[in-house]
Amino acid sequence: MNVPMPEPASLGHGIHLIPAPLPFKSPAWVNTYAIEADGGILLLDCGTDWEPGREAIRDGFGQLGLDESAVHTLVVSHLHLDHVGMSARLVKELGCRLVMHERAAKLVDRYNDTPGYVDRLLRIGRAHGVPPRVLGSVTGDLATRPEYMPLIDPPDHTVADGERIDIGDGRSLEVIHTPGHEPAHICLRDSRTGILFSGDHVLPRISPVIMWDEDLGDPLGSYLASLQKLLGMNPGITYPAHGTLIDRGDERARQILLHHDRRLLDMAELVRSADTTAWEVMLKSFRPNLTPLEARLAFLETVSHLEHLKMIGRLQTEQRDGTVVFRR
Ligand SMILES: [Zn+2]
Repeated sequence: MNVPMPEPASLGHGIHLIPAPLPFKSPAWVNTYAIEADGGILLLDCGTDWEPGREAIRDGFGQLGLDESAVHTLVVSHLHLDHVGMSARLVKELGCRLVMHERAAKLVDRYNDTPGYVDRLLRIGRAHGVPPRVLGSVTGDLATRPEYMPLIDPPDHTVADGERIDIGDGRSLEVIHTPGHEPAHICLRDSRTGILFSGDHVLPRISPVIMWDEDLGDPLGSYLASLQKLLGMNPGITYPAHGTLIDRGDERARQILLHHDRRLLDMAELVRSADTTAWEVMLKSFRPNLTPLEARLAFLETVSHLEHLKMIGRLQTEQRDGTVVFRR
């Protein structure tokens, strides 16, 4: 995204946008939303735990004439570090309660377990043909937990699909469970305006990465079903967690569905021309010279697509010398 980070802004209806920079090139910032709620403020998402992010939230509240000590609730859309990373610090400093989806509460230990994640990545990499010489670089930068990703605490309160978070005056935020990008991902819909807070489920210009993991079933299948579920609710104005605001959430969701349809077709075609590993499909599907982080995400996205094709019966696999080979 080459768009510069926007300034904090009041968007109307008691909703305020406070972007917080991230220690990455892309996405370069997370959109946090401060929503006036029941005599205080509900904050949605919080970014990673580093000083520029913390200052942006403090300064953003100040610029908008809001008092950050009025934040009584922090809701996180999902358990990725750019959304939940600063949660422990904010809960401590602002004295707010932490709210997440009920499934997220069961994934807190997993989020905190970096060695476990590195082990799983190494196993997935070996199984799906990542050459030994790049296996370390594709997973290696994770070996130490970065400072901006401290451990997180379990939530004070959990919410379920369809539940409404009361924000006072007869207004509520409806919880929509949208697994795929992450298994506990939620969107929130404002009962008064119909505005959808889409987290990373629907983003402008980019499609959220759908990462394979050993114990998530069919993450791409879940993601596509979650997009269809959202389309059934006719989303209009959509406030995403990254990038610029979206006028037509329904159109953007359809574009992302098409993007995955094409990618599935292209990858099935690659396998049709020759039996192949997920790593080889990744190399043919993405631009060359990816950074190790980009290569990891592209690889995990490729495995998600190929495994989905297998689960819907369009591809098969066989083991050759301990490596999974996809074939028609
Ligand atoms: Zn994100």
